[in-house]
Amino acid sequence: MLKKILLTSKNKLILPFYHLVADETPQYVTHLYKPKTTKQFKQDLDVFSTYYKAISLKGLVRSLKENKIIKNASFHLTFDDGLQNFYTEIAPILLKKKIPATIFLNTDFVDNKDLFFRYKANLLIEHYSNATKIEQDIYRNFINEKQKINSKINIKRFLLGIKFKEKHFLDELESQINYSFSDFLNIEKPYLSLTQIKELQEQGFTFGAHSCNHPLYTDLSLKEQLKQTKESLKWLDENINPKQKVFSFPFHDIGVSKEFFIKMESHLDISFGTSGFKKEEVPFHLHRLDMEKSNTNPTQFLINEYLKLAIKIPLGKHKIKRD
Ligand SMILES: [Zn+2]
Repeated sequence: MLKKILLTSKNKLILPFYHLVADETPQYVTHLYKPKTTKQFKQDLDVFSTYYKAISLKGLVRSLKENKIIKNASFHLTFDDGLQNFYTEIAPILLKKKIPATIFLNTDFVDNKDLFFRYKANLLIEHYSNATKIEQDIYRNFINEKQKINSKINIKRFLLGIKFKEKHFLDELESQINYSFSDFLNIEKPYLSLTQIKELQEQGFTFGAHSCNHPLYTDLSLKEQLKQTKESLKWLDENINPKQKVFSFPFHDIGVSKEFFIKMESHLDISFGTSGFKKEEVPFHLHRLDMEKSNTNPTQFLINEYLKLAIKIPLGKHKIKRD
């Protein structure tokens, strides 16, 4: 069925995205997303390779610049957050299969210098569930203090509800309990080091920016959005000087204005969102498929995406409009 769909669909390009691939979910993402197992990831790759041709970031940028519509069914893999898992688990698989990929880095976190606030929240939820009674009381008192409304305390909901601009709450709480984010960073090393990034780049993998420290762009002013984007791109230029200038939005790009794209146009070859098969008025902004959301087999997942698109097109709902 997928083969038949591809014969008629204009959507010949797919851009799958992942964070990591693991048989056992790492402690820092247990409440955030469900990574694919190695076996599932290899199944995904087999399906992509059967129906689509793997293309490089260079090829993707070129076809976009030359305004060439990709005629052959093609795919390009992407990985967000710059996790070390790419170096240890994913790269060996992709090198064997000769499949190119782009990794998007949060530049403040390279070399395990800091940790994404959502990963911090996740680690504290894990810590709470194994904490002593005394420590659990510290959590409750802390949350009671911060919560303005007098509702029942739900530790998990509170921690996962912490927004980018409240992320200092996580560090305040950490300082009151027997837990250390820097110990976690030093021991587990969840992020890629610059040395590993350079080695991967030598092997042919391509890199893009994913902001400095992973804010939700809708919660930022335009000025802050531009600063996060330009500074992270500048870090890449200074440290690894990638040929293609690319960026993927942290979380998603919902609510990001047309003005942002106008201001970034001269700095970027492509920006990437996460709205599946949706299309943009902004020609250099492409959307990707969240493979960690799929719980069916990859072929069925793709068929479902094409069917969803087929319903949206006549209603004009396949295009994202920006103010
Ligand atoms: Zn991310």
